[in-house]
Amino acid sequence: MQGYDVSIGLETHVQLKTRSKLFCSCPTRFGEEPNTNVCPVCLGYPGTLPVVNYQAVRLTVVTGLMLGCRVNLHSKFDRKNYFYPDMPKNYQISQYDQPICTGGSVEIEVEGKVKRIRLRRIHLEEDVGKSFHFGRSSGVDFNRAGIPLMEIVTEPDISSADEAHAYLVALKAILEYGEVSDCNLEEGNVRCDVNCSVRKRDGSRELGTKTEIKNLNTFRGVYRALKYEIARQIRVLERGGTIQQQTLRWDDEKGVTVALRSKEYAHDYRYFPDPDIPPVVLRPEEVEAWRESLPELPSRRKRRFQEQYGLPEYDAGVLVAEREVADFFERTVAEGAPPKAASNWVMTEVLRVIGESGKRVSDLRLRPEALARLISLVERGMVNMPTAKEVFGVMLETGGDPERIVRERGLAQVSDEGELMEVVGRVLAANQKVVADYRAGKKAALQFLIGQVMRETRGKANPKAAARILREQLEG
Ligand SMILES: [Zn+2]
Repeated sequence: MQGYDVSIGLETHVQLKTRSKLFCSCPTRFGEEPNTNVCPVCLGYPGTLPVVNYQAVRLTVVTGLMLGCRVNLHSKFDRKNYFYPDMPKNYQISQYDQPICTGGSVEIEVEGKVKRIRLRRIHLEEDVGKSFHFGRSSGVDFNRAGIPLMEIVTEPDISSADEAHAYLVALKAILEYGEVSDCNLEEGNVRCDVNCSVRKRDGSRELGTKTEIKNLNTFRGVYRALKYEIARQIRVLERGGTIQQQTLRWDDEKGVTVALRSKEYAHDYRYFPDPDIPPVVLRPEEVEAWRESLPELPSRRKRRFQEQYGLPEYDAGVLVAEREVADFFERTVAEGAPPKAASNWVMTEVLRVIGESGKRVSDLRLRPEALARLISLVERGMVNMPTAKEVFGVMLETGGDPERIVRERGLAQVSDEGELMEVVGRVLAANQKVVADYRAGKKAALQFLIGQVMRETRGKANPKAAARILREQLEG
């Protein structure tokens, strides 16, 4: 990659969190029987009239406000004409020259360097259906047709696969904070088209010929496709070849980009204003009201976590990456847990469970108040760390109360002086040689004896109390 500049632009389609479709009242629910969430409007029957979903417009404006875009009080819908078997109408309703939002940016951080990726526009459009192929026949499910998509288009400011990945992660966090999309990648809520070109760093200002990789539906796919495509273009140029302007698709299994069609056959979309849909006109007061109800964004919340809770930057960054996780942490602290202890538990145990199970925090049976009480048991020396983790495991399964779990399973830490004295006495009697070593000056022998006490009590002895009593007995 030495000696080359890379320019990448992303067009990200995000499914908005609305209950009904963009131009009709059909539900947007995922995973239902094919062609059950359809009506004459989203099936494109002649004579039907689309009506714009106000929530979809609001969520697009909210996104624009979060990303610092200019919100256009006047926008309109256009017909984008092309043939596609998944599309009921032979045109898609989209926005051409008057999108809802223009400008704005997304801040990313790669290897400690902060960079702003400028946005060109955000517009609203309808999704198309989905084809299925079985054996020798094919079918189309139109449940997805008409679902509102917001298309967020960047300037070609991204200069590596890592930056593209960081952009998507940052964008997803913001969209989740604003509750404009569930950003559920498994359900195809976020899909990307990626433009990519490379240019030899020899002073020429012209961008290289670009290729477009269509319809990537995982962030990892975007990253891998770009890594591959950048290397491929450089290889072609190094050999003295030229880059063909073409549309590609990413073959995730083989790990290569494959040509779909050459731009020589580029579509003429014959955009024109949709005569059935009046322009969208927003009142300045309603936009202002939405601006005032914006949530605290991740970058801001990160700074606040550092200041208010005294957390290290790393902790704050991990916690705010997902709104639900950050909320869970804050509620645990509000229930009385010390912030750093709460942060440690959430970052290690809670995030580990989420990573392993693929669940969301809100799906867990563990509640913040219960975690705060468990942390309190550790802080007060009622249970030691290994036991606390065991109790945590039970709480995940049963959603139970930590004190009760400790009581019922006899897990309470043994701090009782008399009981510990007795165990220490047994351990010392059984390890005369180690005791002699200790008294002869081999202080490390103490650790071995503490270990024996822990073993005798099956891990329940309070290690600090055990050490103190041992020392008293050995030296007294
Ligand atoms: Zn419909």
